[in-house]
Amino acid sequence: MSLSRSFLLCALLSLWSLGAGAQTRPNPQATGPATKVKVKIKDKAKAASYADSVKFAREHYVIDRDSAYIDPRVGLRKLMGGNRRFVENKSIRPRQDRAALLNVEKKQKPFAVIVGCSDSRVPNEILFDQGVGDLFIVRTAGQVMAEASYGSIEFATVALGTKLIVVMGHQSCGAVDAAVNRPEVPGHIIALINGIKHAAAVSKDQPGDRLDNAIRENVLEQVAELRDLDPVLSKKFKNGEIMIVGAVYRLHDGHVEFLPETLKNLPAFRVAGATSAAEQSIKH
Ligand SMILES: [Zn+2]
Repeated sequence: MSLSRSFLLCALLSLWSLGAGAQTRPNPQATGPATKVKVKIKDKAKAASYADSVKFAREHYVIDRDSAYIDPRVGLRKLMGGNRRFVENKSIRPRQDRAALLNVEKKQKPFAVIVGCSDSRVPNEILFDQGVGDLFIVRTAGQVMAEASYGSIEFATVALGTKLIVVMGHQSCGAVDAAVNRPEVPGHIIALINGIKHAAAVSKDQPGDRLDNAIRENVLEQVAELRDLDPVLSKKFKNGEIMIVGAVYRLHDGHVEFLPETLKNLPAFRVAGATSAAEQSIKH
């Protein structure tokens, strides 16, 4: 072996041993896998404790689920809080896992009935940031109601014990638009127009946008319709056992406006478990 070849071999062996040594030698400065796992566990524990904290509940407008079921005024606050999370892009998507499915497998206790439009742009659980078993929803175009709708709402209040009923219209409602513009319509669509035409006529000369006014008027008339509906809802409403309010959902930014006209002059509530704090909370 020539001198130059021996030198080259020695150099290669040295490099190999250095490389091998680098792989096995412990480096006190390195953040190895063990340290990283530790950090992750710590972060997860921190995140979990924040999610369970009073601070998180306050920052995400979380309202107790059981209280919302017992008292419709608390239920209303819960819907407002959930919608605020949705608008502020802070949705927590509660009760949407397998545990939630199993929890309501045998029994449901929805804290609110939503009487809303069938429109695909109005996804109730998403825009109120609620989950499985929370909302009992009756949907028809323009939330026009008939016998089956009445029966569904009565079923929720009598059989399921739901005390909050929200009639919710929405911006750019096609059914209300059809009633305002009175087009020729085929088949049973005329039933929707007939249900809304009074609201369209009443709001015709109001200042502002004609369709927006009709949408709002339609909700107000539907709230009145349910408050007067014999024999179940009218009695429960007058006795202060249930709350029936109106709202309009804005497609533009996801905000639900609860109509002030429907939050005023409500009968005195007689709900077990009601608190004075809940009474003060009906505001936007
Ligand atoms: Zn609609």
